[in-house]
Amino acid sequence: MSSPTPPGAESPIIDTFTLGPYATNCYLVRVGGEAWIIDASFDPDPIIDRLRRLGIKPQALILTHAHIDHIAGVRDLLHAFPGTPLWIHEAERDWLLDPELNLSAFAGLPVTTPPADRLLRDGDDLTLGAASWRVLHTPGHSPGGITLHHEPSHTAFVGDALFAGSIGRTDFPGCSFEQLERSIRSKLYTLPDQTTIYPGHGETSTIGAERRDNPFVRG
Ligand SMILES: [Zn+2]
Ligand SMILES: [Zn+2]
Repeated sequence: MSSPTPPGAESPIIDTFTLGPYATNCYLVRVGGEAWIIDASFDPDPIIDRLRRLGIKPQALILTHAHIDHIAGVRDLLHAFPGTPLWIHEAERDWLLDPELNLSAFAGLPVTTPPADRLLRDGDDLTLGAASWRVLHTPGHSPGGITLHHEPSHTAFVGDALFAGSIGRTDFPGCSFEQLERSIRSKLYTLPDQTTIYPGHGETSTIGAERRDNPFVRG
């Protein structure tokens, strides 16, 4: 007989959708019948179909950061689920409205989104179902990059800060390798080793594996 899961410790159900020309991972996270969409890349129809099939309206669309490949599908998702609140870190509020800041102008496909409904800060606690997720500000790849961490299930959505065996690019405007290294060391490598990271591109990994073996930033 297994002991009952304490409230808030229920493991999230995570669906991964790898979308668009940059193979961006977008996530559908569900806890207790409630759902968030994390990041919205090009052609998000598979996310829309999945939510419709589940009969769920998302509680929020949360952006790990505002580069083109993470926001190109925002309007489609908001069109499919009107009234869904859009959340992003306060440092990238203006990026949603400015194709040069979000790099879409340089990709030849200017993208803007509606303004954010909520601006996130380091240390904010966000509730999904009975679960509490902590916002960690992890800048460097971009000034407002965030990680969403659910401590009880050892789950972290890290955006483009940290990848399996790699780290986010720091050669775009607004990037800083020093800042990214600091974010990874102070905010990510301090999470428990068994924490699974869900990055913006590529496969999942764990904090322990990256702290030991990541060739760019070692713990
Ligand atoms: Zn990015
Ligand atoms: Zn990306």
